[in-house]
Amino acid sequence: MAEKAKLADSPVKTPKRKKPEVVPEPRLKICFIGSECYPFVKTGGLGDVMYALPRALLKQNCDVRVIMPHYMCIPQALRRTLKFRGEFMMDLCADGTRFYVGLLETELDGITYYFIDNEEFFGWGNPYTDLVKDIPKYCFFDKAALAVLNYLEWIPDVIHCHDWQTGLVPAYLRTLFSTSPVGRAKSMITIHNLRFQGVYNIPTIQYWSGLPGYAFDYTTMKQGYEDANMFKGGLAYANAITTVSRTYAEEIQTPFYGDGLDAHLRHLSGKLHGIVNGIDVELWNPRTDHDLKSNYSYRTVLKYKPENKRALQKRLGLEQDDGKFVIGLVSRLTDQKGLDLVNAVLPEILDGNTQLVLLGSGEARYEDAFRACAAAHPDCVSATIAYADDLSHQIYAGADAFLVPSLFEPCGLTQLIAMHYGTVPIVRETGGLKDTVLPYNAFTAEGNGFTFDRYEAPLLLDAVERARKLYFTDRERWNGILVRDMKKDVSWQNSARQYRELYMQLT
Ligand code: ADP
Repeated sequence: MAEKAKLADSPVKTPKRKKPEVVPEPRLKICFIGSECYPFVKTGGLGDVMYALPRALLKQNCDVRVIMPHYMCIPQALRRTLKFRGEFMMDLCADGTRFYVGLLETELDGITYYFIDNEEFFGWGNPYTDLVKDIPKYCFFDKAALAVLNYLEWIPDVIHCHDWQTGLVPAYLRTLFSTSPVGRAKSMITIHNLRFQGVYNIPTIQYWSGLPGYAFDYTTMKQGYEDANMFKGGLAYANAITTVSRTYAEEIQTPFYGDGLDAHLRHLSGKLHGIVNGIDVELWNPRTDHDLKSNYSYRTVLKYKPENKRALQKRLGLEQDDGKFVIGLVSRLTDQKGLDLVNAVLPEILDGNTQLVLLGSGEARYEDAFRACAAAHPDCVSATIAYADDLSHQIYAGADAFLVPSLFEPCGLTQLIAMHYGTVPIVRETGGLKDTVLPYNAFTAEGNGFTFDRYEAPLLLDAVERARKLYFTDRERWNGILVRDMKKDVSWQNSARQYRELYMQLT
């Protein structure tokens, strides 16, 4: 099939030569520390970013290395490729209890990955369980990550942390590690999702982290009367804070989106930056994607999308009819993702000419609701309650439109992937959705998708109806949107440059 797309793609004119990219100087040493990273472990967008951003930074003359936990759930085939690099004992708790730190290593496409091993913390099934286990686990991980850098004698210019699980890294760096070699490094922390913060009572976090008392005051980790907040501490101690879109950077400084940290973030706003995520366009490439029935580019999308649509309908047992308007939805099933709105207007969405294809897993109330809906409408609703990488690719390629009606969305990757696969997004104007999807303008015929602003079900329905109307009544303009979406630059290149600029400012 790739061959077919290739033939149809053969350029008529001599292709323009791309200007060679200027390699920025000097070379920077950047260490990513995070709790998940594709292809080893991925539960959501964080895993994608931890994979793709280091690769994009490599092209920006950065020596990037990634540190993550050695979870039991890393696939066997990948675990076998890891090499033992060393081991040592490390003090962790306030009483000086010592723990084993094993260090494994592998290299993938120019990026070195280090894995911190300790069966007591990482020998469980999933990366995240509950706070009772996760608090000690990530106290250990954060301290071990810095200890490993000293052990390796590789001192990065910037240590780039991600989400609450790595919140203690900047805190350790400015306290217990400040006089050790790694204390020279600057730190940056990226907020991928402020909803999860790692909050627990002070005695527990103080015991496990072994951090000094002054790390638990109101300007650092203390929250309310008796709790400590690991993310809050990370934000306070880091030299810079980034989040994954400009709009989300503004939103989290307000009470509704700030999840209790809005005042803290307003106070720290001088070092807060919004840099939108991209997607890895080699991994997500409809021209070469092995999961698709037919590969295509923006030149051939109109010819090959219907084949992907029929293959998707066939796989999911839906009526095979490429005249139907197919709406895709791939998501964690949580209240963040706007599924209450979808449920509220499902009867109106299913007008006889529309099919809904859902892939997701998460909260039982949503899983049950979508299962029930699929059982009631087997011809036009398919609900796959699972995590399925291959099916997600087929939905991005086979659907006509893609729904992301989130209550809040720091950046959102699914709308970017959908656009890159020529599937028109229908999104709520929040966070990164607002920054990446320009609303379709019926007068100028510009824009990338259909949007609505307030979190209200009738507004979602209105957006779906506007999209559907254009699809059925003006296919030329509809096709114009999807070709424009495929041409849109959703790669990491621009954002990686902005990250590099920020690293330079810190050093
Ligand atoms: P979040 O990080 O909040 O979950 P994002 O939009 O940033 O949301 O990233 C979601 C990523 O996870 C995308 O790559 C999406 O394709 C993938 N994903 C989400 N749910 C599933 C699922 N059930 N099966 C396969 N991939 C999924």
